[in-house]
Amino acid sequence: MNCLFCKQNSDNSKSVEHIIPESLGNKDQVLPKGLVCDSCNQYFANKVEKPLLEQPYFRNVRHRARIESKKGRVPIENAFIISPELAKADIIIDRKEDKTIIVMEDEEKARRIFSSPKGSMIIPAFDKPEDNNKILSRFLAKVAVEGLLHWLLKEDGWIDEVMTNSGLDEIKKYARYGQGVEFWPYHQRRIYSEETRFNHPLISIQDYEVLHEFKILPTKESHYYFVIAIMGIEYAISLGGPGTDSYEQWLKENNYASILDDPNEKKSSR
Ligand SMILES: [Zn+2]
Repeated sequence: MNCLFCKQNSDNSKSVEHIIPESLGNKDQVLPKGLVCDSCNQYFANKVEKPLLEQPYFRNVRHRARIESKKGRVPIENAFIISPELAKADIIIDRKEDKTIIVMEDEEKARRIFSSPKGSMIIPAFDKPEDNNKILSRFLAKVAVEGLLHWLLKEDGWIDEVMTNSGLDEIKKYARYGQGVEFWPYHQRRIYSEETRFNHPLISIQDYEVLHEFKILPTKESHYYFVIAIMGIEYAISLGGPGTDSYEQWLKENNYASILDDPNEKKSSR
């Protein structure tokens, strides 16, 4: 077998590839080992996903949603305390003990602050990723190629198509090596709030949150867009070549609906 991205022999590869990193709440959307070789797997983990997850918005959203990393940790959030002294603090969420811990370096200062009758804590909030975000665009390119393959895994003969079709070479090269175009554009918009919970008559009795869901949208110009929602933000990226024009056209013609919307699903906010 050859690797989806670098096309080298991957028969000895040992790791399964998480389409979305576990640190964004994904446990079950994986590609069987060998489809992405160990070295590409490592590359994406260290050079794309790690820097992405360290961006202010992604740290922030993982902290807010209490999403644990592979090691079972919720990211530490920075905060400012005004009481009336100004101090910096780290906020640590301990899910096991169901506790929030506030850590400050200066013990004396902490004592003064917590014994003061008044005070407030400010946690900076980022509601969306920063713009012109090349790491995010390479991440989306990677997820799009892998998501397409995941979607076609059950269809005989189609896997080879994703593995070998040269029409996907450009986006694979961009995802894996950051080469080809300088920046592969994507379309980004919020389609529901971060707090939204879903309820579907066929799926669950309990409400559930959708961390990520994806679909492939073919436009009438035969452009294929990979569309995914992560914490209420929808991202769309073209698989065949860089550009978002025909996606914007599709949105206009469809009243800005999202193909991720399931009419059977009921949304509610906490
Ligand atoms: Zn590879």
